[in-house]
Amino acid sequence: MLERNPIISSSTLAGCLHLRHPALSHRVGLVCTVLYGVLGAWSEGRRIQNRRASKQDIKREITYSLVTTAVYATVALGTVAALEQGWMQTYETVAEFGWLYTLLSLPLLLVLHDTYFYWVHRAMHHPKLFRTMHRIHHLSRTPTPWAAYSFAPGEALMMALYMPAVLALIPLHGAVIFIFLSIMIVRNAMGHSGVEFHHHRWLDTPLDALTTTTHHDMHHQQFNGNFGLYFTWWDRWMGTELPGYRNAFQRAVAGNPVRKRRVTSPAVTPGVEA
Ligand SMILES: [Zn+2]
Ligand SMILES: [Zn+2]
Repeated sequence: MLERNPIISSSTLAGCLHLRHPALSHRVGLVCTVLYGVLGAWSEGRRIQNRRASKQDIKREITYSLVTTAVYATVALGTVAALEQGWMQTYETVAEFGWLYTLLSLPLLLVLHDTYFYWVHRAMHHPKLFRTMHRIHHLSRTPTPWAAYSFAPGEALMMALYMPAVLALIPLHGAVIFIFLSIMIVRNAMGHSGVEFHHHRWLDTPLDALTTTTHHDMHHQQFNGNFGLYFTWWDRWMGTELPGYRNAFQRAVAGNPVRKRRVTSPAVTPGVEA
């Protein structure tokens, strides 16, 4: 079930709700079952790769995600301690810094994070860093949402340090931090979902500046391009966007029924960027 679809199973959800509201749990369970069937059939046709992640792949991704959770929690504790010492600053009243600053701080956070991610990620593909820092993440040749935070401890630390680094430079509203973290997690999970969710005309509009699932999925297949997280800017400026991106996207959104064939082959240990 897990490798087929990341959405929490309706039976699990209904089971949880059953503890308190049996009638509600049945209705929610029914809606989820219908949604699961409809969305499941739709997403099967939009799979980017024919290969499917194996159970071993998913077990490894979950295990390393737990390692990442421990690293992120440790960094978060350090950040809270630094906030209490006054070395960093957050605020809860918008009037302290004004609406304009508060509203603009969110896109600023995203643009800065995209830049940080692109260069740290690209550096981790250097032969001297790849094996210790980034190889674990690239064991997922066919990523699943569980791969989004499947990092070696060194990579997890580098990714976790962005938030305290920004807080050391600029004050942030609590809600802005929450929205930023939500966008980051959703976009990261989407990029590793293996399913192309975006509209088939996406690349023909200015939204092409935003990455798609295909963009990052290709990075897991080929390693040496498509390093960006939210935006395609850095890959295009630095000439690292993979040349087959447009064609791969069009194949994914075409809903080719051949893609419904499930192929599970052993994970291949990735090499290092040439
Ligand atoms: Zn990835
Ligand atoms: Zn990579």
